[in-house]
Amino acid sequence: MKKKWFSTIIIMLALWVQPGLAARGHAEKVTAFVHVNLVPMTAERLLPDQTVLVKEAQIIAVGASGEVAIPENSVIIDGSNLYLMPGLADMHIHTDTNWLNGGWPVSPFNLFLANGVTTIRDFGPKGTPTGFALHWRNEVKSGRLNGPTIYAAGPILYGPADNAANIVRTQYQQGFDFVKLYSFLSQEEFQEAMATAKALNLYTAGHIPFAVGLDGVVAAGLNEIAHIEELDFEFLDFDRSRRLGRNEWFRYILKRATDQMERLPDLSEDDPNPDFQAHIEKIVRQLKASKIPLCTTLAVGDVVLKKLFEPEGLASATTSRYLPFGFIETLQQGKDGHQMIFRGYEDFAPYHYNLNQLLLRELHRGGVTLVLGTDAGPAGMGLVPGYSLHDELRFMVENGLAPYEALQLATVHAAEVINRMNRSGNFGTIEVGKKADLVLVDGNPLDDIHNTRKIQGVMASGRWFDKDALEKMLIPGIPVTAAVKHVYDQHQTHYTSFDIVIGKTSSGRLPGSIEAISIRGPAGKLPIQKDDFTYLPRLDAFWFKTPGKPQTGTYSIEVNSGDQKGSATVIQAVVKTIPLPDVNYFKPKSGATLQSEKPIFSWQRIKTEEPLYYRLEINRIGGGRVYSTGRVRNMQSHTVPGGVLKADRSYRWRIRITDGDHWTTVQNSTRCAWQTFHVR
Ligand SMILES: [Zn+2]
Repeated sequence: MKKKWFSTIIIMLALWVQPGLAARGHAEKVTAFVHVNLVPMTAERLLPDQTVLVKEAQIIAVGASGEVAIPENSVIIDGSNLYLMPGLADMHIHTDTNWLNGGWPVSPFNLFLANGVTTIRDFGPKGTPTGFALHWRNEVKSGRLNGPTIYAAGPILYGPADNAANIVRTQYQQGFDFVKLYSFLSQEEFQEAMATAKALNLYTAGHIPFAVGLDGVVAAGLNEIAHIEELDFEFLDFDRSRRLGRNEWFRYILKRATDQMERLPDLSEDDPNPDFQAHIEKIVRQLKASKIPLCTTLAVGDVVLKKLFEPEGLASATTSRYLPFGFIETLQQGKDGHQMIFRGYEDFAPYHYNLNQLLLRELHRGGVTLVLGTDAGPAGMGLVPGYSLHDELRFMVENGLAPYEALQLATVHAAEVINRMNRSGNFGTIEVGKKADLVLVDGNPLDDIHNTRKIQGVMASGRWFDKDALEKMLIPGIPVTAAVKHVYDQHQTHYTSFDIVIGKTSSGRLPGSIEAISIRGPAGKLPIQKDDFTYLPRLDAFWFKTPGKPQTGTYSIEVNSGDQKGSATVIQAVVKTIPLPDVNYFKPKSGATLQSEKPIFSWQRIKTEEPLYYRLEINRIGGGRVYSTGRVRNMQSHTVPGGVLKADRSYRWRIRITDGDHWTTVQNSTRCAWQTFHVR
């Protein structure tokens, strides 16, 4: 069997760390927090005037001032009038390919750390290539990357999934911490994945597949439910035996929900519907008895409402400046993923969110284990890593949890769930022997949950970042997005193409404002300089090509402009030659005269196991671009709309074939020769 292109590749990554911001680590020395108010999270209490000693990544002493001897040469951190609490965990995030290539103004690792988030759990990488979370997990562990401790699921089993057992086994062998199962798995696929994971003693977490339902996932022993909102669908009437594709399920469920809106119970507390109450109580008992924890992720429902009903408010929020480049634009055009999926079914969104909140309150009251999770990380989510966790804490308190109870979800409960995953959840409280994940805040978080935002310093696995270091972490770099790709052309030559797109810089206009560009490839620094690049003004892009195929591995691109720096990390994971298509099958043939002003262009597609993307391009003879399509999966023909091609003119056309659908994810590209034609 042919292997999937990306699955077996070991990806080596350079680090995305802003130089000069390395933690003031004193591995061999002891760090002493003195005169600090301690929020140990071992119970709901505050211990005034305490000393906490940290050596390497561990807490080695905790006690009242004067009772703990501070070793000579210790690094002293004065905690007078400040509060020391355990680092926070976001138990539901996603790594995304765009964490690599400069898609965020500030690296998500920095956003997490600056917000006191010292543990993250990746619920499955988004985008391709996948698998870099494992690399980051090791980099953080070894101290080469500043960031939270990472636990990671393999690529999400969305369903439909052929060979679910094989996928689960492969993820286990690759060393992922758990598997993530999704909504669209069939009953058989779900059972197959569960049985395989159980046999391997591998932790399972996920959505409740629409074909399976809550009773089914409880019976199969699913270890954890990824969102409280998954339970909402238990209150809807729909046909679970349907065989639907990925997005068809969502649209079907939203349609059923909207059709049933009138019949759904009123959620206001003064009018409890007894059947509905009984149903909720049954669910709570079931989850409590089966000891299944859930991630809260109310932040998702909240951001979806903003996307649908107040996009301008979301666009102008103070933390939105940290959202990925292009997010706001897409939102304002109404093309955000949630906006598209909910189109026509907007009415269900507020009900859905209110039901989530009601379920949160009932689950909490019923003693079901909850962990704090936000679903931040994917490019299109609209949530800012780190900041979204403080919002999630606020949602908990707004729903009646005491600040202490809300904090438990992001500390003690998180650690307990990590332990259940057969991993070391040695964090979440301030006690001797625990990992030194600490947050120093200016205000008692047990009095007011907003105080968790008043961060004066963060310690992650024993590495200390003071307020100054955290502030520097949040300075946006020059936005750089880059791609490296292998190009094969009609002359049967291979070359390597570098595309570097630069966003606004503070020091003036492109290209002059960029002083230097450097690229470090898998074999070291490439002998090219800024002047070797062609500047493409329409795209704000620098472009360079060099003969020969690229080497696989990591390319780090750095640009400098005055004091500002920008960087992108790109992975060339696969080098393979996409064959040239046979021009004998091209229509129109080269030199043809077309009658119609709406001609059809067609070609024979190349048969491969992996999908290929085709892009039709039409230029004026000796001139520029007249028309092009997007990169469309397995496209074999395209009708050019009327009005594009003018009579009595000559044009040329070609197709480009790629293995990715976006310029940043293309690894290999083939372009065939231009074909001329005339329009009569
Ligand atoms: Zn998620």
